[in-house]
Amino acid sequence: MSKKEKKGFALHTKILAGLVAGAVAGIASNALWQDAPALTWVVDNVAQPIGQIFLRMLFMVVVPLVFTSIALGVTSIGDVRKVGRIGGKTLGFFVGTPTLAVVIGLLLVNIVQPGHAIDPAVRSALLDTYAADAASKVDAAASTSFGINTFVNIVPRNPLDSAARGDMLGLIFFTLVFGIALAKLPESVSRPVIKVIEGVGEAVGVMIGFAMKLAPIGVTALIFGVTARFGFDVVQSLGLYVVMVLVGLTLHLVGVIGTLARMITGIRHADFFRRIRALIVTAFSTSSSNATLPTTIRTAQEEFGVPRQVAGFVIPLGATLNMNGTALFEGMTVLFLAQVFGVDLSLGTQAIVIVMSVITAIGVAGVPSGSIPLLVMVLEMVGVPGEGIALILGVDRILDMARTVPNVTSDLLTSLFITKSEGMEFFAETAEEAEAEAVAATTA
Ligand code: ASP
Repeated sequence: MSKKEKKGFALHTKILAGLVAGAVAGIASNALWQDAPALTWVVDNVAQPIGQIFLRMLFMVVVPLVFTSIALGVTSIGDVRKVGRIGGKTLGFFVGTPTLAVVIGLLLVNIVQPGHAIDPAVRSALLDTYAADAASKVDAAASTSFGINTFVNIVPRNPLDSAARGDMLGLIFFTLVFGIALAKLPESVSRPVIKVIEGVGEAVGVMIGFAMKLAPIGVTALIFGVTARFGFDVVQSLGLYVVMVLVGLTLHLVGVIGTLARMITGIRHADFFRRIRALIVTAFSTSSSNATLPTTIRTAQEEFGVPRQVAGFVIPLGATLNMNGTALFEGMTVLFLAQVFGVDLSLGTQAIVIVMSVITAIGVAGVPSGSIPLLVMVLEMVGVPGEGIALILGVDRILDMARTVPNVTSDLLTSLFITKSEGMEFFAETAEEAEAEAVAATTA
């Protein structure tokens, strides 16, 4: 929590308050004055414009955000490649573990279907409102049928045109190649360019902060607009969605990360999670992989004996590139909102959701709500209205806190894997355990 936030209510409290206030006001207005022209006027001329300005503040940072985070990520991978083998294995983990996470998330949403808990009448009303928009996106997606051109089209003719059209794959491809080229240049040439991109990236981070400052009022307006039109039913399925995301994150944290840690180190689940207590608390309370970075490195070194060069190399990279919880959250949210808006996502489209959740999670900045602008992008990409974000923003703080925990824990896990696979030593037991054993041995 920043100093400024400490003075008043914290931002997440205000967003939550905004969500509740907007929803209560909207539901009450719907019950009292449903279809009254004055209510429609307020929705169209007050709530909608405010909500749109907030959404556009998020949209407008997407292009510079994708460019700066991926370019900077790749230039640091340029160093990784010098270390060859370690770099390859690290990147393998950074793609493999979030993929497992999204698959868990998508399975849960497909099985439990939280978005279908919504009243069909409300859903069809929502559909009517957003159908044209969604249909044009779906048409656009369908017109580029899957084939050899799918791959050819990833290479943009003109990256500025790709960015302007919201063709993120084109922009991402250009940025990847640009980053690789930058990493190949002599440091005297690349350093100033990287410094500029870092500066732009930081400014973009501040801009996300501005957008998020608007979030309490933006969320109030967006949720009011939706509930005044559609009443209470629209928010009913939100509770189930939050529970499902938390269940998904816990399953991944304990089932995948804990189990992999056990396979790699032989350390039992209970012991593993006891050693990373401070890490969990820090990630949970800051909602930021970057803010947690010093704790992650310290935990790896002090609790597991990961060598300094491994921890100092793998973990900062992971704080930027490796976001298991975020990928899971993105995939679940896209599917949930698709269910709410009645957009049918085929298996092929769900595969795109998996790939895009993993790719965009790589591009997400390790800051509170870093994933929201990219989530909007994935939603639009598969034909789900970006406005759907209004439904979940009010509960996002708790989800953000929760998803940051697997984000940082998987960075630690990767450092354990690299240590083990490079034949280096780590502590199978903690310092206290070793001490207790040593005491026992001398007294015996
Ligand atoms: N808050 C997350 C992190 O820093 C990013 C996100 O998913 O918004 O890891």
